[in-house]
Amino acid sequence: MSIQVSNITKLYGAQKALDNVSFNAEKGQIVGFLGPNGAGKSTMMKIITCYISPDQGSVKVCGFDTFENSLDVRRKIGYLPENNPLYLEMYIKEYLDFICGIYKIKNKKNRVAEMIERTGLGLEQAKKIGALSKGYRQRVGLAQAMIHDPEVLILDEPTSGLDPNQLVDIRQLIKELGREKTVMLSTHIMQEVEAMCDKVIIINKGKIVADDKVDSLNQYRVGNAAIVVEFDKTPNTAELKKLPGVTKLEELGNNKYRISSKGNADVRSELFKYAVDKQLTVLTLNKEEASIEDVFRQLTKGK
Ligand code: ADP
Ligand code: MG
Repeated sequence: MSIQVSNITKLYGAQKALDNVSFNAEKGQIVGFLGPNGAGKSTMMKIITCYISPDQGSVKVCGFDTFENSLDVRRKIGYLPENNPLYLEMYIKEYLDFICGIYKIKNKKNRVAEMIERTGLGLEQAKKIGALSKGYRQRVGLAQAMIHDPEVLILDEPTSGLDPNQLVDIRQLIKELGREKTVMLSTHIMQEVEAMCDKVIIINKGKIVADDKVDSLNQYRVGNAAIVVEFDKTPNTAELKKLPGVTKLEELGNNKYRISSKGNADVRSELFKYAVDKQLTVLTLNKEEASIEDVFRQLTKGK
């Protein structure tokens, strides 16, 4: 296990920023840490990276405890903090050289050149950081986070404030860099998780409200899953309503119906059997999937 968070609680005065938070990230996963502003994402990331300590609970990174072995943890982790604080007066190479010094990396020149190459900074490398666009500053931030070849990357809102082109580029870069690493990235954008992550952890007001594979988020959908079916001829709607699992039937016109079912019951096979039995042809059959937005709204509504 690359990251093991167990029962973390963090208070700021009387306010619980994190309330008994537990989750894991496995080696090689890209984990999306999703939540609205103020949910506790940055606080959790600062605890994982040893920048602040929790009031309760423990965190292990690659088996090392953040409290007992913080130096080992820091060696294993690359961290891109929120808003990517950089020295704007420094040249890219100078800055990366300085970071190499902090990690006591040997052969600094080669490593800096390698990171510039890997993060696509080649054409900009002679510039001062302050002269770079936001997208290129993020690349410098990623180069900084990766320079000591950590096993785990913690990226706090790495795509916030980027324009649509920069966004695509940085997502692509994170995916590439993340190939041999465990990556945890925070975001308040749902599509980001769908575009990049294997697993999603959703946090709201300091509590984990979902933790699952991106593909299986639908199970969190509160309410009913719906199927839209279209037949070639008009079916007997009274019979359709009686099919196992069906809770509601809405007529959409032109022999099209929206059929709701209990919980996650999938009535598609029942509909097929029914159609065959009644010599109807199914022209279309679609499951209305919940988007991550739907799931997120449902999970965080009124909490
Ligand atoms: P996120 O990154 O999800 O937006 P944060 O972890 O930054 O959330 O903040 C979680 C909560 O803790 C917020 O209500 C925020 O105002 C509060 N908070 C964060 N840092 C501090 C701090 N240093 N002092 C007091 N409250 C803080
Ligand atoms: Mg934050």
